[in-house]
Amino acid sequence: MYKVGITGGIGSGKTTICNFFKTIGIPVFSADLEAKRILNESSQVRSQMIFHFGKDIYLSNHTIDRKKLAGIIFNSPSLLEKVNSIIHPEVRKFFFEWCNRQNSAYVVHEAAILFESGFYEMMDFNILVTAPEEQRIEWVMKRDNSTAEQIKERISMQWPDEKKNQLANMTIDNNNRELIVPTLLELDKKFRLHG
Ligand code: ATP
Repeated sequence: MYKVGITGGIGSGKTTICNFFKTIGIPVFSADLEAKRILNESSQVRSQMIFHFGKDIYLSNHTIDRKKLAGIIFNSPSLLEKVNSIIHPEVRKFFFEWCNRQNSAYVVHEAAILFESGFYEMMDFNILVTAPEEQRIEWVMKRDNSTAEQIKERISMQWPDEKKNQLANMTIDNNNRELIVPTLLELDKKFRLHG
């Protein structure tokens, strides 16, 4: 199965582009959504999370305490790495199981940290989505009701586009939603030939 990775910084438009692929019938795997699900549902992940962060990392309804987790990972790169090392192997395992269930010429894997996690190496083609920082901040402020400062802080924790660009097979500049549709249709044609 041909695998296409899609990544980009916060608010660059990865999900918007993945939604286009979904609309034309391509299966899309969202690593970030799966990671959230696995945190709540995998007993192996749960016991490792409790071992490292204490049982209070889960709420009384057995779902992860997102506020507490955010507090841990935003303040310490090494703890963020720890959390990732607990979750990533499970997400990977689930991705390959998921691929085996798809009946499609190709699949799309959306992940915020595709390059950082090394998962891009398991893809056949990697796309980086970019947009000007000011534009991304404006979009995310509207979408999440967050402040420019909060978004800038998150951007500063991510790899810069220049670094990701070196590992990507292609970069899509998401400056204008209309203009990217022909590019996406061309890509779809190309990926179908591989499938
Ligand atoms: P995150 O990493 O935060 O999940 P993302 O890269 O998946 O972000 P999206 O959620 O796709 O980004 O886009 C962020 C916001 O910007 C959304 O509200 C989306 O509708 C809007 N947006 C994205 N691209 C465009 C565009 N070309 N024109 C107008 N709005 C856009």
